[in-house]
Amino acid sequence: MRLIFLGPPGVGKGTQAKRICEHYNIIHLSTGDILRGEMAAKTEIGEKAKSFMDKGALVPDDVLLGMMNNRLKKDDAQNGYLLDGFPRTIPQAGGLINIMDDLSHSLNCALSLTADEDGLVQRLIKRGKASGRSDDTPDIIRQRQNVYWKQTAPLLDFYRKKNLLKEVDGIGEIPEITDRILEVLK
Ligand code: ADP
Repeated sequence: MRLIFLGPPGVGKGTQAKRICEHYNIIHLSTGDILRGEMAAKTEIGEKAKSFMDKGALVPDDVLLGMMNNRLKKDDAQNGYLLDGFPRTIPQAGGLINIMDDLSHSLNCALSLTADEDGLVQRLIKRGKASGRSDDTPDIIRQRQNVYWKQTAPLLDFYRKKNLLKEVDGIGEIPEITDRILEVLK
């Protein structure tokens, strides 16, 4: 099973991604988590990413594509994966097609978790207080929402045209949403 998860910041992508990965026994690749790991380890990628992430801007496409090209080649990615937070732009989606073609991987589904924008910001402000994530402050959260609608939402049409898009309502109890996702993936 190879999946892409799409949805605005705060919709609960990460939570659902973990549950879906357990179900299918596939790996969860969150580019946000990978980039935060690179930042903590002060790698070249981490140093490049930091200024963008702190502003709530997207890290440049070539950085993401290089990083994911290496990651998807690894042994543990050969039995399936869920991509959480990638691709986030049309050029990244185009690049991902090439990366997957080279590995003879096919995409099963791009799953979009939906919610209206009200409430998402509040949810993230709360998470920021709990997690201490430096980009979970009100201004940066709003900026990340704007980036999503401008740069990432066009991916919905991109995958819809390829007949790969499935949309699931992201409002409700956690297990209930997981069940909805599993149902559309059947
Ligand atoms: P959220 O979805 O809540 O904004 P993420 O952890 O997915 O959180 O991403 C945090 C930040 O990491 C983004 O604001 C961006 O700077 C960077 N990032 C993650 N994935 C990508 C990507 N595919 N392309 C560019 N930047 C990314």
